[in-house]
Amino acid sequence: MAIERTFSIIKPDATARNLTGAVNAMIEQAGLRIVAQKRVRITREQAETFYAVHKARPFFGELVDFMISGPVVVQVLEGEGAIAKYRDVMGATDPAKAAPNTIRKVHARSIGENSVHGSDAADTAKQEIAQFFAGNEIVG
Ligand code: GDP
Repeated sequence: MAIERTFSIIKPDATARNLTGAVNAMIEQAGLRIVAQKRVRITREQAETFYAVHKARPFFGELVDFMISGPVVVQVLEGEGAIAKYRDVMGATDPAKAAPNTIRKVHARSIGENSVHGSDAADTAKQEIAQFFAGNEIVG
C-alpha cells in the first residue's frame, strides 16, 4: 500500500480536557507518524471554509461555533494507507456507534463534540493540508 498523508484536527472538546497526548498516543500506536502539528485557534471564516460541504446541514452553525470555541491541534499524519487507517483509528462520527478502542469511542462526548477530524479521501486530504500548512512545515 502507498504511503499517504492525511489531515487531522484534535477538536476543542479534546484540547479542553487535556487529551492531546492521549489522542497522539493512539495515532502513533496505529503506526501513523505525526509529520506536522500546531495548536491554533481557528477563525469563524476558516471553520466555515473548512466545513463548507456541510453548509446546508441543520448542524452547520453549531459545528462552526464548536470548532472556534477553543484551541485545536491541526496535524498531518503519514503512513501506509494513512487516510483510511486514520478513519479506522477515529471510529464512527457518533461515538455511540464507534468501534471499541477507537478515539471517538474512548474520548468523544457526542456526535458533535467528537474529539477528532480526519480527511475522508485523497483529494480532501490534499486540500485540507494546504489550508493549514505550508510545504516546509511538514517534515516526514
Ligand atoms: P466525520 O467525517 O466523521 O467527521 O463526519 P461528517 O463529515 O459527517 O461530519 C463532520 C462533523 O460535523 C462531525 O465530525 C461532527 O463534529 C459534526 N456533526 C455531524 N453530524 C452532526 C449532528 O448531527 N449534530 C452536530 N451537532 N454535529 C454533527
